[in-house]
Parts: sequence; structure tokens; C-alpha cells
Amino acid sequence: MPVTDLGPKPAEFDPEWVRAKYALERDKRIRPDAVNQFIEVTADFSHYADDPWSERIEREPVHDHVRVAIIGAGLGSLIAAARLQEAGIDDIRMIDTAGDFGGTWYWNRYPGVQCDVESYIYLPLLEELDYVPTERYAHGPEIREHLQNVAKHYRLYDNALLGTTVTDLRWDSAAEHWLISTDRGDAFTATLVAVSPGSLTRPKLPGIPGINEFRGHTFHTSRWDFGYTGGDESGGLTELRDKRVGVIGTGSTGLQCIPHLGEWAQQLYVFQRTPSTVSERGNRPTDPQWAASLKPGWQRERMENFTRVTCGVEMDLDLTDDGWTQKALALSEPAIFRETQRLGREMTPQEIADFLFRADYDAMERLRARIDETVRDRRTAEALKPWYRLNCKRPGYHDQYLDTFNRDNVTLVDTDGRGVQRFTETAVVVDDVEYELDALVFATGFEVGTEFTRRLGFEIVGRDGVRLSDKWAKGMRTLHGLQTHGFPNCFFLGYTQSGVSPNYTHTAEERARHFAYLVDTFVRRGARTIEATKAAEDGWLAAMDAASEKPKAFYAECTPSYLSSEGDKENPHGMLSTNFGGKPVEFFDMLARWRASGELEGVILK
Ligand code: NDP
Repeated sequence: MPVTDLGPKPAEFDPEWVRAKYALERDKRIRPDAVNQFIEVTADFSHYADDPWSERIEREPVHDHVRVAIIGAGLGSLIAAARLQEAGIDDIRMIDTAGDFGGTWYWNRYPGVQCDVESYIYLPLLEELDYVPTERYAHGPEIREHLQNVAKHYRLYDNALLGTTVTDLRWDSAAEHWLISTDRGDAFTATLVAVSPGSLTRPKLPGIPGINEFRGHTFHTSRWDFGYTGGDESGGLTELRDKRVGVIGTGSTGLQCIPHLGEWAQQLYVFQRTPSTVSERGNRPTDPQWAASLKPGWQRERMENFTRVTCGVEMDLDLTDDGWTQKALALSEPAIFRETQRLGREMTPQEIADFLFRADYDAMERLRARIDETVRDRRTAEALKPWYRLNCKRPGYHDQYLDTFNRDNVTLVDTDGRGVQRFTETAVVVDDVEYELDALVFATGFEVGTEFTRRLGFEIVGRDGVRLSDKWAKGMRTLHGLQTHGFPNCFFLGYTQSGVSPNYTHTAEERARHFAYLVDTFVRRGARTIEATKAAEDGWLAAMDAASEKPKAFYAECTPSYLSSEGDKENPHGMLSTNFGGKPVEFFDMLARWRASGELEGVILK
């Protein structure tokens, strides 16, 4: 018989009780359908992915040749284009379904949208554009505007194809270039292509029975319908004053938009499956004196410092000194070091594991106490408490979210890990109770853990007609995440088999540097093709496998999330299989050494 009730939390820390509690909460949420529990936004659901932000502009199809085509116009692509231009390569075309530059920050315009990593390290190319964000955690419009300014600064608009979806990418072996086809009738060629789709791009919907029977107004947070709600990214959702609104999803996005929904809706029901951790945000305007004091090279230094601190590398200084770094300092090597100093001896592996478990528990207890201090209704407060280890889910930060549940018009409908039961034409049903709604917002996240080409939305056909979907059917195969054998002159940007910093911009920056180095070398040597060898690819896969053992063991005990492929740790397309599981700085440093050697080990130029 599975344990279903452990009784109240013991007064003293009891690791057995805590482990049993975590396992109990995880087991409620494990589902055999894992990532397949979600609905793809195709067919009847395709309108959830339409572009609400730009009018379609008619234009003639393009039939020309460019040196580099970058598919995707988000943050990673912009950094890559900037680094290419610094290497003297400026014949670049960027293509994106979105009607403008910005990627995630183009699509996500929900009220409250905000950067959850410090903007001084998250907004890219600040020194290049001579810009310092106006607040510590910038809001969406400022980030979007900055990314569009990057595109202007590097003159990327001139040759871009926006509002354009690539439909096919095909290698022409005879001509040694790529043929790119789009939904606008374009058929142009490129010597080199970079595929940069982003990792949290395609909205997903929960596979809840009756989802297409519900007749109320619905939309996904990444396509917010301000025509229905009124207001804008800063709030002011005046049209909801007479509406009963539901929201499904309490991840990072839910945390940011729920306070605005609560402020304006006549009645708001928050349907929760798993509570997020909600740490203090502490946003503040940028101090102009501090901004004026910054010395050249400051952004790179701060970015590197953040990633090193958050992955447990002992540093003299914690430059960012925020929730991310403070948690890391309490839960990784520096904390172990301090404990060995205190004990005056080395610790055994078991002692280290026990020490880290306790430190994690203490951090989670502080977050649970924050809920008790903020939320007045005891049942609601209990239901908002997360019971898992801190990094099992993406940590959340907000200073108004918890207080929203003190409003009379806001009801938390906790589903105790089971999720929403079903829909009727007019209601969302949980525990057989029907919640009648006028509108429902899906804050249910983005596709992760499905096949790469499915998320990409088109096929890539390499040498000898080999399809990437076939080559990667059992999982990605790359060298350093950037190249795959049999697909010459093709590069991948983003999170493919890469070291992952909590600051995505740092990962994108390191990959952009490596990409620019490879392209520059290709151009300087007058090569016609550049390709990873099969042996090098096998070597990188072996390194990836070895590095993934630790995170796989950690996530096996976690409540499910997109980080763990919803509990299916063997999913070959999931983040645990498609990211380098070691410290991100090991990956970045390895790439730097590889470049410095100048030997291009594992890459053939012809
Ligand atoms: P998430 O995938 O993190 O959250 C989806 C939410 O939907 C979860 O709360 C999930 O519950 C819930 N859900 C899914 N299915 C059901 C169901 N059947 N019934 C009830 N609830 C359900 O998506 P987000 O958009 O919140 O965030 C995605 C990522 O985007 C973040 O982790 C972060 O990396 C990034 N992001 C970054 C921001 C930034 O400021 N930089 C801001 C916002 C997002 P459960 O937890 O149980 O699965």
C-alpha cells in the first residue's frame, strides 16, 4: 500500500519524514504519459500559437544567396549575429515566424512579464550598445526594445525575413550550400546555416479531458489577449472587472501574471497542480552612480561571476548577490567547504549528501515560513507550500504573488498534484466541483522533451538525403552541441547538448563565440565545407553520458517538471539527455581550450 498520509511535520528536523514526504508528493504527480500528457498546438489548437502582435506584411518571395542564414531572431541568434559581425562576416540573414526580433520577449507580453535573472547580466550586449537597464530585474517591454535595438545596431533588419516560417532546410551536395524554403514562397540558398529555435518556444496545452468543449474565452500566456482583458504588460486589465477568470499553471509565468489577474478580475480561480517556490525578488531601479562607475569589460565579468557562483565554484566575490547566488552559496561546494572548516576534518560522501539535504531543507523551510507570514488563510497557506528539493523545479521569485491570495476575489483551487479533472462547456472541474468561468488563461508552459524537429516545425535534410528527425530519433547527436555529422555547414545554437547556466544569455554568449570562431576559421581558410566527424560526435556523447549521471540521480527523486521530462528520466529528447549535465563553466572552459589549441579536433574543413 503506498503511504498517503504521514501525519504532521515533526517539530525537529527528521530526514526520514522529509524524504517520505518528498516521495509522497512526487508519486502523486508521476504519470505514465509524462511529456505526452500535453497537447501539441496544431490542428484544432493551432490558433494558440498565432502571432497576435504583428500584421502580416505582403512581400515578394526571395530567391538569392546569403553567406549565413540564422533561423530564429531571438536573443541567442542576435548574439551570434553580433559576434559574426565582429569577425567581419556581415552577409547575414535572420528568419523568424515572429513579426519582429526578440524571440521569447517578442511572444511573451503577459501582464507582469519580467526577467527573473538580473538584467545587467541577462540583457545581452549592454556594453556594445552602451546601455544599462533601468531596473535590476527589467520588465518585458524594456527587454524587447533592447533586443530590437541590438538588431538595429547591427543592421540586421535590412536583410531579415520576419513573419516568415521556414518549411524545409536541405543540403545540396553538388553546390555545397543549403536550400531554405519558407511559407512565403522563398527559396534561397546559404553557405552556412545556424538553427536557433530557443528552448521554451512552442506553447503547450494541458491534455485535460473536454479541453475543446469549453466555450469560454481562452488563450495561452505567450499570446496574451489584451483585446479581451484590456490593459498591457504593466497591468490595467480593466475589461476583466465583470469576468470570472481561471488560470491553470503556477510556474514562473503564473507567478508573474496572477497578481495582475487577481487585481482586476471580478473573481479569479487559480488552479494549482504543484506550488512553485516563491523567493523574495527585491527589484529596484538602477543606481545611476553605480551605472556610471562600471569599467569596460564589466558585463562579461559579472556574467561569468554569476555562472561560476551559481554552479558552486568558490569565488572571492559574489558580484550579483541575489536569490540565485545566495541559494547556490548555501547549497554547493562553498557551503561544504565551510562545513569542513567547522568540523576541522574532511567529510565522507554520505556526510556531504546529508549536509546538503539538510541545507536544502532549511532553505525550503524559510520559503514555507514566508508563505505562513504572508497568506492569512491557513488552508490556502498550506496548499501553497512546496514539498520538494529547491532545484527540482525552476526557482520562482515574486513579491506580490503570495499576497494575491489574501484578496477576497481570489481563490486557490489546489488539485493536490492531480491537475484539473475535466472541462465542461462553461466550467473547469476539480474534485467534481464545477468552477463556472467566462475566461481561462493557460499558463501551462512550453514544449520540452519532444523531438527536436517537432519543436522546430520543419525537417533538416543533410548529406545523402538523411533526415535529422531520423538521425536524432533516439536523441540528439552532436559535437559540443553545435554540429552534427552528415549535416555540413549547419550549426545549432541554444540549449542543444550544451552547458546550462541559469542565465541563458551566458550560455548563448559562449555558444555564439564558438560559432563565430568556427565560421571565421571556415572563411579565413577558404573552405567549402565544415563538418564534425562521427568519432568526435561519439566522443561528445560519451562525455555527455558521464556528466548526466549526477543530475539524473538528483531528478529521479524530484517532483516532475519540464526539467526532468515530467519524471521520465530516460526520455532521449528531454533536458536531462539533451543538456551537458556537468557544471556549465566546465563546458565553457572546454570550448575555450578547444579554440585556443587551434587544432579543430573533430572538425573537418574541406
Ligand atoms: P512551466 O512549465 O514552468 O509551468 C507550467 C504550469 O502549468 C505548472 O504550474 C504546471 O503544474 C501547470 N500544469 C500543467 N498541466 C496542468 C494540469 N493538467 N492541471 C493543472 N496544472 C497544470 O511554464 P512557465 O511558462 O511558467 O515557465 C516556463 C519557463 O519559462 C520557466 O521555467 C522559465 O525558465 C521561463 N520563464 C522565465 C521568466 C523570466 O523571467 N526569465 C518568466 C517566465 C518564464 P506542475 O508544476 O504540476 O507541472
